[in-house]
Amino acid sequence: MSFSRRSLIGAGIAGLAATSLALPTWNAPRGKRPRNVIFCVSDGMALQTMAIADHLLQATEGRRSYWSELLDREHVVNGLQDTRSLSSVVTDSAAAASSWGCGRRIWNGQLNMYPDGTELRTLTQLLHEQGVRTGLVTTTTVTHATPAGFCVNAPNRNLEPLIAERYLPSGVHVLMGGGNRFFAPNRRADRRDLYAEFAAAGYHVVRDRAALDAAPNGRMLGIFSEGHLPYTVDRRHDSALDGAVPTLEQMSRKAIAALRGAPNGFLLQIEGGRVDHGAHGTDLAAMVYDQIEFEDAVRAAVEFALDDGETLVIVTSDHACGGPSLNGAGWNYDDSNDGLAAIARMRSSYGPLLADIGTSPTADRVRDAVRERLGVELTAAEAEAVVLSLGRKGPFELSIFHGNPSTTLAMVLGNHSKVTWTSGNHTNEHVLVTAVGPGADLCRGLTPNHRFFDKILACYGLQFENPTMDLETARRHMEKNRPVAPGAAAMHEGEIANLLLGAV
Ligand SMILES: [Zn+2]
Repeated sequence: MSFSRRSLIGAGIAGLAATSLALPTWNAPRGKRPRNVIFCVSDGMALQTMAIADHLLQATEGRRSYWSELLDREHVVNGLQDTRSLSSVVTDSAAAASSWGCGRRIWNGQLNMYPDGTELRTLTQLLHEQGVRTGLVTTTTVTHATPAGFCVNAPNRNLEPLIAERYLPSGVHVLMGGGNRFFAPNRRADRRDLYAEFAAAGYHVVRDRAALDAAPNGRMLGIFSEGHLPYTVDRRHDSALDGAVPTLEQMSRKAIAALRGAPNGFLLQIEGGRVDHGAHGTDLAAMVYDQIEFEDAVRAAVEFALDDGETLVIVTSDHACGGPSLNGAGWNYDDSNDGLAAIARMRSSYGPLLADIGTSPTADRVRDAVRERLGVELTAAEAEAVVLSLGRKGPFELSIFHGNPSTTLAMVLGNHSKVTWTSGNHTNEHVLVTAVGPGADLCRGLTPNHRFFDKILACYGLQFENPTMDLETARRHMEKNRPVAPGAAAMHEGEIANLLLGAV
């Protein structure tokens, strides 16, 4: 195909310095198929998440966030996605990624599988048969629900040691993220050395940022932390972490380098997976700075697409989470801008902050830690509310969505950041879809999540129908299997507890 490339001048938004950004002018005839697809996912991103990130960057750096830049460009297609699952109007990440992965809505918590054990064929399985190469890059454990949802079958998303095993015969070309505890022989219950097994299968195994930079392009397994990768806000204020762990943008550029030139094209998923974790924890700094890092990775994908000319880039989320909103505050809402200034002073996620407060919290310790880590001066009453919640003594028992220390901390911080949350859970709203490149028209309008399976396959000239299962049949089987595959609600409570303990 042919396309011309030109630099476009920035949007000219009042109060914002004009920036130049090279963006595609696709001259391909409508209907031209791409050769490659890069599917970028900000896990758990509500539209408000992007808006807060965008306004923060405008206030602090005089630039727009990258995704915001893309939205109103010529030949960029925007749409929405309906994210529900088979079992609920509110999906979890496993069902959401599986809907893309197998073209069917499934039960929350499962991966490309029905509750009766029926395994559904996945995108990577189908594409590998056609010689298409694939890659999965994330800031979570590489075995987490979203990357796994493109690839493997599993009755429960939490079976990450099993998912790590299943990646090996799956033939995925590039795997990058966290999760040493699912690959190392001294961390696995069965003592298998998956690193050695991947190496024997021809993968370059890399474990830190320097090794990633030095690795030749080819099959690659990059595992850069014990569990999930650190939050961006913590990395930026810890030089040792920053030196050891690559950013999502660096991993994405390396993955693209390893996949480009694949004789039959490639499919790459890039996930900003911890945007969702920040939102679960109602942890504003964790969420916002990971969103900014995600959008920098999108820039890497679009820049490649510009050079390549045969790549469709789709940018979206699997669902929203937390319902964060920066609220109007003060006379004529003048105080809302102070909220951005408060966010700009935050230097930590809640994990290190809670470690500073310790297990015997006092109002003074809370005020000191919040001042030091977040640059916020809490009132005595606000600090006392946090102490009470850390002792599980309220004070917000009135809402089932605000009954833990994380949401209490977020509430009192909201007096300063002006950001409040609907909960620390996923929500049901439609999410944004932005597409650039040949095939972008496929993403116009409101698309049910499972239709992306058809759209992605169509990019490679393929079509496939997995079997269907109705809700009642699925529910009958799920009741029998409940001990094996717990519902998402129980799972998320555990996830939130782990976040607070810094265990993930
Ligand atoms: Zn989640």
